[in-house]
Amino acid sequence: MNRQDEPHEPRTPPPEEAMVSVVVPVFNEEECLPELYERLREVLRTFAPESEMLFVDDGSTDRSFAVLSAFHEADGQVRVIRFVRNFGQQMAVSAGLRNARGKIVAILDADLQTPPEELPKLVAKLREGYDIVYGVRERRHDPLWRRLGSWAMSNLLYRVIGIQIPDAASNCVALDRRLVDNLNLYNERSRYFSGLFAWLSYGRHGGVPVRHQDRAAGQSKYRLTQLVTLTLNFVCNFSTIPLRLPLYLGVLLCLVGVVGAVVVAAELLAGYLWLPPEATAIISALAFLTGLQLFAVGLLGQYVGRIYTEVRQQPPYVVWEVLDHAHEAGTPPNTSGPADT
Ligand code: UDP
Ligand code: MG
Repeated sequence: MNRQDEPHEPRTPPPEEAMVSVVVPVFNEEECLPELYERLREVLRTFAPESEMLFVDDGSTDRSFAVLSAFHEADGQVRVIRFVRNFGQQMAVSAGLRNARGKIVAILDADLQTPPEELPKLVAKLREGYDIVYGVRERRHDPLWRRLGSWAMSNLLYRVIGIQIPDAASNCVALDRRLVDNLNLYNERSRYFSGLFAWLSYGRHGGVPVRHQDRAAGQSKYRLTQLVTLTLNFVCNFSTIPLRLPLYLGVLLCLVGVVGAVVVAAELLAGYLWLPPEATAIISALAFLTGLQLFAVGLLGQYVGRIYTEVRQQPPYVVWEVLDHAHEAGTPPNTSGPADT
């Protein structure tokens, strides 16, 4: 795999007057929403006259939806999508990205941990021609275990995808429309956006430092179990290493068994005992048989992995740009693998 530490040459940037969509996933944030809305509206008014706020209510059980409906009633820039139940932040962001109309799409949490006033910096950087710009939290206001988790995640991202992103867990990003369209080609339920961002932007990323504060109100909606699920989603979506582990372990154990058998045979032939032959024979046989079973499981895993890859129906390739006279005359290009077949 190519390592893509160095950002690529920036691409053609979106035009100055491009419409900006701000996607906000919301789960039980009724206390934060009024302040968020006021501040976000003010920020957008100053730097992006053509803009929209797209709130995705992820099955809130408090008054969040009522509050959002009131914003929608009063303000033509506000759109709201309400889920029937809670599907998780990744799905809320998915719905937002699918429905956003802007040429530039920013994602912002509802809890004001990243102030909306930081958005113009992100968008300005995106206009230099990046696929994605991350808000890099300089001093994170999160518990130590969350910060350690993010650090581990960044390293995992680097190992699995080969891209070092400036703040893997940042929920505050600005995206170019082309990256959004490409993200929308992915349909899997077990989604991990930081991984997809890194995978699809292929190093064409920028970062700007942003302030990070305590939640304006309420508590984090993430429990440890959800973070573990997210990490598993990421590892299993982007690599088949876990499926290969039993294969390697099986081979290793078989080798241990063979070496043990050779030792016992040599002892019997030489008539000299280094190790107790009965125990060595039993342990070697056990190791060999367990190794064989693990090997078989690992082999099955290779087929399961291939089935899994096919079932997910991910686009086998994703196109960034097309130079084609027919296309310029109005024929839309094929932008992903499946459309070709
Ligand atoms: N969120 C969501 N669905 C969920 C959990 C969270 O839409 O199931 C939203 C939440 O309202 C917030 C954002 O995702 O706007 C980030 O959540 P949170 O602040 O709890 O996460 P943390 O900052 O602790 O990572
Ligand atoms: Mg938060």
